[in-house]
Amino acid sequence: MNIGIVGGGQLGQMLAQAGQKIGHSFKFLVPPGECCVESLGQVIRSDFHDQHALAEFAQGVDVFTFEWENVPLATLESLSHFAPMRPAPHCAQVAKDRIQEKKFFQAAGFNVQMFAPVSCHDDLAPALQHVGVPAMLKTRGQGYDGKGQRVIHDASAAALAHTQLGNVPCILEAFVPFDFEISLIAVRAKQNASLTTSTVSAATTLFYPPCRNQHINGILHQTTVPAIGVDAQVLRHAQAAMEKMMETMQYEGVLCVEFFVLNTPAGQQLIANEMAPRVHNSGHWSIEGAHTSQFTNHIRAITRQELGSTALRAPSVMINLVGEIPPGLAAQKSFNEHRIQNVPGDHARDEIDNVSVHIYGKSPRAGRKLGHITAIGQDAQQRAHLTLTGH
Ligand code: AMP
Repeated sequence: MNIGIVGGGQLGQMLAQAGQKIGHSFKFLVPPGECCVESLGQVIRSDFHDQHALAEFAQGVDVFTFEWENVPLATLESLSHFAPMRPAPHCAQVAKDRIQEKKFFQAAGFNVQMFAPVSCHDDLAPALQHVGVPAMLKTRGQGYDGKGQRVIHDASAAALAHTQLGNVPCILEAFVPFDFEISLIAVRAKQNASLTTSTVSAATTLFYPPCRNQHINGILHQTTVPAIGVDAQVLRHAQAAMEKMMETMQYEGVLCVEFFVLNTPAGQQLIANEMAPRVHNSGHWSIEGAHTSQFTNHIRAITRQELGSTALRAPSVMINLVGEIPPGLAAQKSFNEHRIQNVPGDHARDEIDNVSVHIYGKSPRAGRKLGHITAIGQDAQQRAHLTLTGH
């Protein structure tokens, strides 16, 4: 099948790498700027509004998906007149506005922190009164990797923070004194449905084991799987709510929801923070650590093929390479790949040293995700750190 991906970053890269292994070909619509998918298929370079470029991109595509939710709704809808867009354009909408997202979470049965909309400076005082301090002021849209947010320690700092954020529409959220953070990654696929039908049919939803995430400066630093310390009953409740939410959206593909975990005397509480209607950074470990990666399963879901097992192969630790690639890692990557070619078997990589290095080929810049490493096995944490420090 010919799959059209909107976007050309590392998520598009890893989707195409996974999809090519199961026989699909790829085409990309990429806005101006650097991309890392050139070697993986035809790249149409255009902004998202050029109808001629959209038609050119759509030519020969059997199914579309997106690797970035902040694509304009009109672009996703235009493309969906040529071939199905999966997940459907409305699924991306929910995640574009933090206020809508919170309301959506509440309707699905998730707990959310106190919040209030802030459209202009005059909204700040009532919002602060409702939410209290400390709080987080975040832009309603376009925020990712900790961008577009400020911690508010006292009311007097709020106006300055709003100005620093460009006086754009914001949300004021209560600061959550969480114990740790997790993400739940699910994949939903329709069964026995032809590629093009839009009628509601039976679907399968599978969950990856919960991922425990550590952020530094708002950017994901490390994911450990399985997440230790999550109450089984609380987890089941969250998974049930997420499954229902995906059913409501008639979702097809991978979805991630990030949670704050609070241990209180009354028990454990999960607070839904954010969702990503796409493959997610906290699922990168699944390339080596799960029987079927989030990328392969996303491709399987959008092409309406049977899903592969999401079960864990071995405990996994993923660490992002942000801003710079530690010296020696690039050399280790090519050395490993050479050895892998000479070892038979599906998971030869793991039999060698249990640490995989992924480098996306982007130019280094402070705060930019340039690659990641994944270590699997009982001593994954230790080996991941040994790999990074080179000792
Ligand atoms: P976000 O862009 O909402 O995913 O935020 C990035 C990271 O900032 C989160 O993963 C948390 O580590 C931290 N953060 C965001 N919102 C809050 C909050 N309301 N309370 C405490 N920490 C937060």
